[in-house]
Amino acid sequence: MRKNVVAGNWKMNTTLQEGVALAKDVNEALKGVTPKCDVVICTPFTHLASVNAVIDTDKLGLGAENCADHKSGAYTGEVSAPMVASTGATYVILGHSERRQYYGETSEILKEKVALALENNLTPIFCIGEVLAERENGIYNEVVKKQIEDALFHLSAEDFGKIILAYEPVWAIGTGKTATPEQAEDMHAHIRSLIAGRYGKEVADNTSILYGGSCKPSNAKELFAKPDIDGGLIGGAALDAASFMGIVTAF
Ligand code: PEP
Repeated sequence: MRKNVVAGNWKMNTTLQEGVALAKDVNEALKGVTPKCDVVICTPFTHLASVNAVIDTDKLGLGAENCADHKSGAYTGEVSAPMVASTGATYVILGHSERRQYYGETSEILKEKVALALENNLTPIFCIGEVLAERENGIYNEVVKKQIEDALFHLSAEDFGKIILAYEPVWAIGTGKTATPEQAEDMHAHIRSLIAGRYGKEVADNTSILYGGSCKPSNAKELFAKPDIDGGLIGGAALDAASFMGIVTAF
C-alpha cells in the first residue's frame, strides 16, 4: 500500500549552522512520537552531509531540492545525483515550480533528472501543478496531465512505482492561499486516474500523491483526511520545527 509522507522543502533558507540546528530540532521532536507517515526534510545541497550526520535516518529521511541533468563533467556550479546520494540523502525534489519558472526546467530536462535520480537510488518527489491563470481558465486538469505524461509516462511501471508525486498549485505556494481540500482531492483523484490509465489500478493505488501549497498545522488535518491525499510537501511551515511537527502529527 502507498505510504503517507510529510516532506519539508527548505528552499534557499538557513545557513549551514541554522540548518543543522533545525534538523536537530526536528530529529529531537520525532523521538517522542510515532508518526503515521514517513517524515523527510529536503535541504540546500550545502547542508546535506552535515544534516545526515546529526539525524536518525531511520526516522527522518533526507533529500535534496534538485539535482543536475548530467551525471558529471563540465557543468560549473551544478550538483549531480551521485553527489547528492554520496551525502547520505535518499530523496530529491524534482520539477518544483520555482525551478520550472525561474530556471527554465522543461519536461525534457526533468526526464534526465528523474533517470539520474533513479539510477542513484534517490526517490524523486516530483512536483506538478498549474499557475493561477490556468486554474482560472479551467484548464488545470489538462496542464497537470501534460506535465505528468511528458516527464514520467515513458517510465516502466517498476520505475514509476519509485516516484512520489506532489501536486502543488503554483497559486498556493508561499501565498497563504491553500487549495480547498475539495479542490486538492479532485486533482489528486484525477492524477490517480491518469496513473491507472497508464499503469493500471495497482500502481495507481500504490502511488503517494502529496499536496503542497501553504499547508500548515491548521489546515493539514482536513487536507490529509481526503482519500487521495497522502501527505504534504511543506515549504514555509517546514522552517519551524514545531509547525512542521504540527503537520507531521496531523495524520
Ligand atoms: C513548496 O514550495 O513546496 C511549498 C509548498 O511552499 P509553501 O508551503 O510555503 O506554500
